[in-house]
Amino acid sequence: MVEVTGLRKTFGSLVALDGVDLSVDAGQVVAIIGASGSGKSTLLRCINYLDPPDSGDVWVNGHLMGIVEGASSVRRAKDRELRRHRADVGMVFQHFNLFPHFTVLQNIIEAPMAVRGVTKAEAIATARELLAAVGLAGKEGSYPSHLSGGQQQRVAIARALAMKPRVMLFDEPTSALDPELVGEVLRVMRDLAENGMTMLVVTHEMAFAEEVADTLVYFDKGKIIETGSPAEMMRNPQHARTQAFLQRLL
Ligand code: ATP
Ligand code: MG
Repeated sequence: MVEVTGLRKTFGSLVALDGVDLSVDAGQVVAIIGASGSGKSTLLRCINYLDPPDSGDVWVNGHLMGIVEGASSVRRAKDRELRRHRADVGMVFQHFNLFPHFTVLQNIIEAPMAVRGVTKAEAIATARELLAAVGLAGKEGSYPSHLSGGQQQRVAIARALAMKPRVMLFDEPTSALDPELVGEVLRVMRDLAENGMTMLVVTHEMAFAEEVADTLVYFDKGKIIETGSPAEMMRNPQHARTQAFLQRLL
């Protein structure tokens, strides 16, 4: 479902991604861990081209995510196509990133109407279903500032799902939350995984990773250093740096 090959991204002289290869099958959940600054967020941002990589390819659901060079009319058609493919990748950020001047409902229906061409009535019906699924039925008219962090993050997940993505990327979705609000967001993510969503999750919630993820990836200095089953890797990390990192974490 997701194929990343030779992904490289630099910021000036800083190499943020140093040749990343990653393959995620449909319905699989991959948890990504690694030190601050190791390139985890950059990887997610390059996968959906929020940040275009310098080189390497990203394929999602058989479609190439990158800009294709060519004559301008071809290029414009390609750009439209790429926007559509990029909409197959949902993203949830650490700091929710809801539109503060939109209600919950407006936050959720905006993109499906603008990008997917869904009618307003359809978008509202879907939004209501999704809000019920994340435990927020009745919050349609609330503004983000009137919701708790956990509620805001569940709205952000519903907003991403409203685009009917094939893949969901989560960048430390619970690390800005008060501890008592973490569980409600992880529960929604666990439900999603159980319903077969393909997910890449940057997280340091190791209990969640062990329970929900099929694969754990340890990232260090822009590279994947170690990958394996979460339980096995936590018990018996092969690489010295993975060992040291997990020791600090567990
Ligand atoms: P954290 O755990 O703190 O979120 P991370 O693993 O997500 O870290 P990234 O945010 O991907 O790390 O950053 C990787 C490296 O790239 C860091 O050295 C960071 O300073 C740098 N970097 C990221 N974005 C930019 C940018 N827009 N401009 C310049 N440097 C950047
Ligand atoms: Mg990050």
